Amino acid sequence: MTPIVTRFAPSPTGRLHVGNIRTALHNWMFAKANGGRFLLRIDDTDAARSEERFVEAIRVDLAWLGLTPDAEVRQSERFALYEARFDELVAAGRIYPAYETAQELDLKRKIQLGRGLPPVYDRAALALTDADRARLEGEGVQPHWRFRLDHDTAVEWDDLVRGDQRFEPATMSDPVVRRADGSWLYMLPSAIDDIDLGISHVVRGEDHVANTALQIQMFAALGATPPTFAHTALLTGSEGKLSKRLGSLGVDQLRESGIEPQAIRALLARLGTSDPVEPAVDMAPLLAGFDFGRFGRAPARFDEAELAQLNARVVHQLPLDAVRGRIPAGMEAEAWEAVRPNLSTVAEAADWWQVIEGPVDSPPVGEDADYLAAAAEAAAAIDWAADPWQALTAQLKQRTGRKGKALFLPLRRALTGRDHGPDMAALLPLIGRDRAVARLRQAVE
Ligand code: GLU
Repeated sequence: MTPIVTRFAPSPTGRLHVGNIRTALHNWMFAKANGGRFLLRIDDTDAARSEERFVEAIRVDLAWLGLTPDAEVRQSERFALYEARFDELVAAGRIYPAYETAQELDLKRKIQLGRGLPPVYDRAALALTDADRARLEGEGVQPHWRFRLDHDTAVEWDDLVRGDQRFEPATMSDPVVRRADGSWLYMLPSAIDDIDLGISHVVRGEDHVANTALQIQMFAALGATPPTFAHTALLTGSEGKLSKRLGSLGVDQLRESGIEPQAIRALLARLGTSDPVEPAVDMAPLLAGFDFGRFGRAPARFDEAELAQLNARVVHQLPLDAVRGRIPAGMEAEAWEAVRPNLSTVAEAADWWQVIEGPVDSPPVGEDADYLAAAAEAAAAIDWAADPWQALTAQLKQRTGRKGKALFLPLRRALTGRDHGPDMAALLPLIGRDRAVARLRQAVE
């Protein structure tokens, strides 16, 4: 059996955003679920648009997401390989020079469209003689290079998400693979790398489907069996197309808004599949049933509100070790576990730490003054070793006959300054006797 190898191939022209994080995740998951390897391929053939700071950001973002690659390659270090394979294809007549300017090509397209014909490249360059080419080059026209599609062989593949796919090469233009200045377009180096790196599965968005049809012929021309393909449906926003803002939402922004990597993974792993979204903190349950057969072909809806909700449910499960360094110094397991169920983000723990440590502003007590005076007295007298909240409320219930909200709410307000919050039974021991008595007294002063 061929070993499973996937790759995530971002161009370092910006930060990772929700769409390509999802692609990275799918590649990582498929590799890990099948005992395979996950490679990071930096597609930096375009020197003008690629930036080193984005390469670094991609590494940092993947590490934060827990999608660490098993190896990393950079296309800019592999030009010799592309050159060699390009030469072979030129020698075999599968790549040919073309001399049209962008304006000429544009005009050809307009004429075709005007006649109701598909705007497919007419292969005029294939009809040039050696003398024609020599003359053009003598005039200083440098050729760009096209891959000659094999019109006699339909392109077919069984896509893991989309099922049987079929394209007629005659309906497609011979793709330009190299520009006149010698620089590479994405398509050919990618196919060369997929062969050289032993990529068994190419997992990417369905915006690449037409590229795949072309690349499958490149694999054949290069003497290789194409990898297996999985093209996932694209993300959409809750109201149609993914907005520019949502679409460009970067890992850095998500992280700054308090979203945990586990929440991003849990959502993106299941979005667009027939499995429910669950607040999984570990990857194991997500990996267990991972299967492209469970992906739908309809666009997957990405909803920021859903991510925020899922994030809260993830935060409620995080152990202290996962949040240390991000919560106030001095906050230990007991305090973390007491406040955790009330958080939407880890950063909010600081608010509750302030409530525990004080000072707190207690709201006006109104008619509860006598009651709180009694509470202060009771709080000073009860045994704090066991369950002080139970002891305090039991005693006050007996002394005052209050129950329910009338019993609990004035205490919560005076002790925490708020109407809502973590379970008082967990909070009160953390506030402790001295602060609790002082707060109750202060409330009636
Ligand atoms: N660099 C390409 C992109 O980001 C890679 C596509 C692929 O997965 O082959 O679109």
